Amino acid sequence: MSVVEPASAQLMNGTALARETLDRTAERARKLLAETGVRPCLATVLVGDDPASVTYVAMKRRRSAAAGIESRHLPLPGRTTTAELVAAIRALSDDPTVHGILLQHPVPAHIDERAAFEAIAPAKDVDGVTMWSFAAMAFGRDDGFVSCTPGGIMRLLDAYGVDPAGKRAVVVGRSPILGKPMGMLLLARDATVTYCHSRTVDLSSVVATADILVAAVGRPEFIRGADIKPGAVVIDAGYNPGNVGDVDAAGAGERAGLLTPVPGGVGPMTIAVLLDQTVLAAERVAAVAASTAVTSTAAAAR
Ligand code: NAP
Repeated sequence: MSVVEPASAQLMNGTALARETLDRTAERARKLLAETGVRPCLATVLVGDDPASVTYVAMKRRRSAAAGIESRHLPLPGRTTTAELVAAIRALSDDPTVHGILLQHPVPAHIDERAAFEAIAPAKDVDGVTMWSFAAMAFGRDDGFVSCTPGGIMRLLDAYGVDPAGKRAVVVGRSPILGKPMGMLLLARDATVTYCHSRTVDLSSVVATADILVAAVGRPEFIRGADIKPGAVVIDAGYNPGNVGDVDAAGAGERAGLLTPVPGGVGPMTIAVLLDQTVLAAERVAAVAASTAVTSTAAAAR
């Protein structure tokens, strides 16, 4: 009879970290309202009635309310054209009472998603989906917004004392909202980063080199436990039907040092970063208003 080793990986508790993050976000929202009269406002835009998207938006709106963030919801019919969606998002970009804009994606196939994303003013791109945000993140600037899921993963790594500097990081997946920015954030923290994708040859041998492994593939249990380097930090960003991640959780549990569970790992952090960035957007607007007021008072006194 073979002896089964007990699972050794420590689980990274994204639910608890998200709660702490949201508590701090709510406190900042309260302070901003008390000091400036500004209540942060997140506009959510949903095209069509895809059940998963409806659920995600409802969850984001509930969490917003709990954090003292006003949410304004713009539901649009599934037949909305690209031009109509762009016009609606531009109107929100021009509305001074809106601080953050979230376009729930994927949008229906007939819409040019990139055109719709680019209608979001960079100062309100709290979901980090515009080309401006991507460039700001890639240049290491601190005046943009990061894509929420990789941003949340970086916070998880920090919370568990994982310093990426000098580590070999492997990111499986290269989507513009997850894999690609993930690798760039790890690179900015001095990891040596390898990207894998659907054309990667001998994925297993690349995965086996990872001190930090991020799975962002969208295929249930795609990463085999046996391929994971013993002691590695394994971040499972995947979310597949039935609460199944992109990593074989049982196998990974026996080899990894740290592992994000699904659910309760990466997912909760995504919303926490979204709301944190919404309050940050409002704080930035208030700071500009305050410095403008100081400047005009000084000019009037001269
Ligand atoms: P995506 O846009 O479909 O990208 C998937 C990536 O996986 C692509 O880069 C693709 O490579 C790569 N891939 C597909 N098959 C592969 C294979 N056989 N070998 C190696 N790479 C392969 O997905 P996504 O939006 O990045 O999402 C990825 C996962 O994360 C999904 O499970 C999604 O549900 C989850 N997710 C979770 C959150 C959260 O908040 N927890 C947020 C966003 C996404 P190519 O580029 O070559 O096609």
